Amino acid sequence: MIFIHGKREIRIKKYDDYHIKCANCDSYGQRFSVYQKYFHVFWIPTFPLGKKTIQSVCLNCNDTFNEEQKNYYLSITRRPIYLYTGLILFVGLIIAFVIGYVITQKQRIEHVANPKINDVYLNRENENDSKIYYFSKIKNIDVDTVELIHGHLQYNRFISAMNDSDYFVNDEIYKVLKSDLKNFLEKGLIKAVKRDYDKSSRFMIEKSRPPVIPFLPCFEYPNQEINK
Ligand SMILES: [Zn+2]
Repeated sequence: MIFIHGKREIRIKKYDDYHIKCANCDSYGQRFSVYQKYFHVFWIPTFPLGKKTIQSVCLNCNDTFNEEQKNYYLSITRRPIYLYTGLILFVGLIIAFVIGYVITQKQRIEHVANPKINDVYLNRENENDSKIYYFSKIKNIDVDTVELIHGHLQYNRFISAMNDSDYFVNDEIYKVLKSDLKNFLEKGLIKAVKRDYDKSSRFMIEKSRPPVIPFLPCFEYPNQEINK
């Protein structure tokens, strides 16, 4: 995607002053125009650049003059808020992101403190220097323990959904103290909690682990012509 940005200038205010006599043509009427440069991203004004500038011109003969009045009109002109649109949008986006993060984090703490059957966790473990991720799912809840089953696959990065060949292995059950779940979350070993996920999610799939096929030496038979 091309990121279009750059500088533009806009007249932010115009004043017509009929109290000033033109030194050139003796008529009354002077126009003061205040300009502001701004930075734009996709033509959305993002923030003003540099100082305001002013030009004055006689409405009759186009002669320019009157420094004092120019400075006065320049000083009373404020930069309009719309020149900050992009910056405001950007800050708003960051605020929305932070609020979203805080809400998710609060929900995660709440879900781990009150586990429910079928809650899915994304677990992280440190293995040597690298981190591995896998899913686990609550199958049963006792007074102070939960029974978890693990996902078949391990991942080398944070993910939010199972790979197309992943599923929960339902014949290996791990018991964990409820109080440990909280510790796991605090230590970053539980990275995400999924609850009320869609019925079509892969989180619904549970299978037993396929039997490990023992390694059998492979014999090669010479090609034979069959039925001859
Ligand atoms: Zn004039």
